[in-house]
Amino acid sequence: MSVVPAKLPRTLPGSSARPAKRGRPILSIRARLIVLALVAVAPLMIERVHRLETTRAEVGARAHAEAAALARQGAEAQRQVIDSLHPLLQVFARIYMRTPLDPAACKAILADFEGNVPWLRGLNVATPDGRINCATDPRAIGLNVSDRRYFQTALHERDFALSDYLISRVHHAPGLIATFPILANDGTPKGVILASINLHWMGELVARAARHSGAAVFLIDGSGTLIAASADEAQLIGKNFAANALVRNMLAADDGAATTAGFDGVRRIFAFIRVPWTRARLAVGLDEYSVHSGIDHEISVAYLQLAVFGTLVLLAAWFGGEQLIVQPIRSLVRTAARFGRGDLYARASEERWPVEFVPLAEAFDDMARRLAAREEELRIANHHLDELASLDGLTGLANRRGFDRRLDNEWRRASERGGPVALMMIDIDHFKLFNDRYGHVAGDACLRAVSETLSVVTLNAAVLVARYGGEEFALLLPMVDSTGGVALAERARRAVEELLMPHAKAPRGYVTVSIGVAALVPEKHQSAADLVEAADRALYAAKRRGRNMVVAHTPALMSVAC
Ligand code: GH3
Ligand code: MG
Ligand code: MG
Repeated sequence: MSVVPAKLPRTLPGSSARPAKRGRPILSIRARLIVLALVAVAPLMIERVHRLETTRAEVGARAHAEAAALARQGAEAQRQVIDSLHPLLQVFARIYMRTPLDPAACKAILADFEGNVPWLRGLNVATPDGRINCATDPRAIGLNVSDRRYFQTALHERDFALSDYLISRVHHAPGLIATFPILANDGTPKGVILASINLHWMGELVARAARHSGAAVFLIDGSGTLIAASADEAQLIGKNFAANALVRNMLAADDGAATTAGFDGVRRIFAFIRVPWTRARLAVGLDEYSVHSGIDHEISVAYLQLAVFGTLVLLAAWFGGEQLIVQPIRSLVRTAARFGRGDLYARASEERWPVEFVPLAEAFDDMARRLAAREEELRIANHHLDELASLDGLTGLANRRGFDRRLDNEWRRASERGGPVALMMIDIDHFKLFNDRYGHVAGDACLRAVSETLSVVTLNAAVLVARYGGEEFALLLPMVDSTGGVALAERARRAVEELLMPHAKAPRGYVTVSIGVAALVPEKHQSAADLVEAADRALYAAKRRGRNMVVAHTPALMSVAC
């Protein structure tokens, strides 16, 4: 019988054998670390991306502003041309009226004027009926311009008038025609002077815009026809683009901006402005790709850096979590499992721990040491209790439990070696009468005296002297046969007799014992119980035959009823 379990219980007292089921956490500890790392890194990433996107927008806005400035410069150049042309034509008209000229003199004066002004392509004088009769370019002589609105305006309103942009019939190049009436002193129109203006300023503007790679400059008249364009789109001059979304957009406002594909399909950042005095729109477009290529490259590099940085942070969180938290916890769980299996000599602190886990590992070891010490105490106490449970309290001999255990062992050993084992069953004669006569206390003393005597007499032969029960004793004699057993039993019987313990109610007047002896060499079909039964029968025979004697077991006794 064990008073306490030999091994420690796997669960704490009061706790159930199975741990209570808990819901699995949605995120593992490593996943939580990664989320934390992302939360820490995300603002940095967002801020950097935001900054770059802002910079990109600023670059776009700067390009818009530059395109708008260029367009304004172009329009301003054209305005200055027109503004300066007005007084010039006035002067010419006055000179023309004061000194009526023949065609040759007229041409000379016109050429003189034209030669001083770079943006003048030609000067003509038309009669009031619209026929050109004086021109710097002879190809213009004879042309009739009476149907032209700018001619009619100048003639009828008697003021400076300007054509829309047009492709010159004489020079086959885009330009403007400015007109001014030549009036007599009484206000009668004598003719109209026509100045053909080239797009000299466009060339300068294109050259300025060309500093930006992929830039485009074009001029659209009020009907959507392309009047002039930088080299890339020059082949489209003369075509009408009224249906084009950009052109529609341009004609709907005096100025503005748009980022869209140009006529050549290349996306550009456009700024446009209405050219003063005309319905035309001048547009300057900067190649969107070129404008953004620098910042886009920077953004790509930044995204790459962010991706690398983010990946490194994730890896650091993953492996850091593994090394600093998950592995130590697994290791502690393994150590705890070893403790649970009873291996209380496992030591957590023998491993290398992250510093935060060291106190925990030491606490584990301390717990294991205490449990080991406690287990040792319990083992000793258990052993002691086990021994106490096998002893008879009155005589100090082995009790029936101790006897049975030893008998099984000796029987098994005798079986193994094939030798005899003898058993002596000893019973005090008329002990009930002894108790009746002298009382139980004296009876107990008698039991102690008999037990000591038996121990002394069989000191070297018996492996065990036991109190079998009441006033009965049993002696186990390994490797002793029936003869040896009987001789020893006789010595024991005599020794008790010689104690001469008074027993007034016994026939001989003192305490005697009867002894039954049996010795067996264990056979397969036999058990230890057979030996006990045989010795018992021999004891019974001794009682029947008159007590105070030793009887050895014989097969004949087996037929005698007890
Ligand atoms: P027999 O000669 O046939 O053996 O007769 P007996 O009187 O000895 O046998 P019986 O079985 O009739 O009586 C045994 C007695 O032993 C009865 C019981 O009171 C006494 N006895 C048993 N155990 C103890 C004990 O521990 N102390 C005392 N004082 N007496 C005990
Ligand atoms: Mg008895
Ligand atoms: Mg008796």
